[in-house]
Amino acid sequence: MKKRRKLMLGVLAAPWLACLLACGGETRPNVLLISIDTLRADHLGVYGYSRDTSPALDRLAEESIVFANAFSPAPRTLPSHVMMLTGNHPYRMGISHGGDQSTIPSDARIVSEILQESGYQTVAFVDSSSSGWLGSRRGFARGFDAYHHAPHRDDLFYDFDTAASVDAATEWLDGQRDGRPFFMFLHTKSVHAIRADTPRPDDRIFPYDKPAPYRFRFVADEDARFTWSAADLGAGTLYLNALNKAYFHGTKDPGDFPKQRIETLKALYDNGIAYTDHHLGRFFDALRSRGLMDDTILIVTSDHGEAFLEHGFFKHGITVYREMLHVPLILRIPGTPGRRSVAEAVSIGDVPPTILQQLGIPVPPEMEGRPLIGDAADANADRPLFAFIKHRLTPATGAAIRQGDWRLIYDRTRADGGAEARLYHVSEDPEELHPVPGEGERAARMLTELLDWRDRGEVKTGPGIEIDEKTLEHLRAVGYIE
Ligand SMILES: [Zn+2]
Repeated sequence: MKKRRKLMLGVLAAPWLACLLACGGETRPNVLLISIDTLRADHLGVYGYSRDTSPALDRLAEESIVFANAFSPAPRTLPSHVMMLTGNHPYRMGISHGGDQSTIPSDARIVSEILQESGYQTVAFVDSSSSGWLGSRRGFARGFDAYHHAPHRDDLFYDFDTAASVDAATEWLDGQRDGRPFFMFLHTKSVHAIRADTPRPDDRIFPYDKPAPYRFRFVADEDARFTWSAADLGAGTLYLNALNKAYFHGTKDPGDFPKQRIETLKALYDNGIAYTDHHLGRFFDALRSRGLMDDTILIVTSDHGEAFLEHGFFKHGITVYREMLHVPLILRIPGTPGRRSVAEAVSIGDVPPTILQQLGIPVPPEMEGRPLIGDAADANADRPLFAFIKHRLTPATGAAIRQGDWRLIYDRTRADGGAEARLYHVSEDPEELHPVPGEGERAARMLTELLDWRDRGEVKTGPGIEIDEKTLEHLRAVGYIE
């Protein structure tokens, strides 16, 4: 508690905030929210990773508050971003899985709407089509003066490319700012697995693939020879999806997948992190060279992680174990000294209230997330954090509750099994590999709370959308629909 109080005082010492308090809110800082889709925290240097995947983010972290235990509410793009931008759990809005036609309910407030009403110029660059997971037709463009869907350039080799997004965002900084403070939301899918039918420089199909020199940054060309395909399973990302399905139905055993190939797959994934980090580094340099870094609250986070068979599956979207939910959360507030680390479990739904609180804008009472800094943060340590997933291609479901040092997972991840509850002591077993026996009372209490939460169901839902043919084609190519 002492540590947090100090943190609050440090933030209050920020020059712009002092002015904000004294000047009636006339000199609010800019806000830049970066979401690096599919980025698990523990593959970044700042979170202790052994590979040099993230020099630019590591440098940023040296001047930031680093949340060591930040979690998304669902291992999928749509529901997680709903929480990241509204501060409310997507499950309450009927957005539980994402492979569907859900939209953000019209009366749910997006942080962009609040900032726009508070005098901010608002702009977004997202790696999504208009009916994709982050599309304007799902409601995400509300509160944005300009909402730019990918591709951010016409001649891209890959569908989504951080390089192009960063160029577009930098051009916007130079050309379209109008003197008001700005809120920019930058979302990139350059870490995400790529669609199986993406054109390639050769005939090799990798689930994760980036341009040279990043293509073989962490794995030698000859070591990546494994083709990531099978006649009956498809290629690239579809191959991994088909394996997931086979693991769920028990027709294949994840234990048979060669360990060395898991390491190769991780290296291919890490190539995408290094590529993305390089281009974000360019963007941070662009902010610095324009003198904007000291006038901008910068937040870097992700919507979910990525699995490499830790609990029997690849990719994301199936379970609520740590590898699919643990994301980075790096908060740089100008004027606060050095790096600080916060160990308490927090949610990406805490991002909107934290932004509003830092700007001196009232946090709407219905916002479930909580400010991460200051007095209010003192109450965060013991609150329950919930996660939920209903898989699109199998009847897999999962729900989880985290409270303090404990996490209870209640899921069904095998076709021949019912739902099971498992309790983990997360500080002793962060990877959630060894369920704790003999804590029956605690497990029962947490399960009751989790099921109560789940069964309270939806509060409000948005109207469905028709998904356009181009987006459907894309969703098939990455295996989200069949
Ligand atoms: Zn995602």
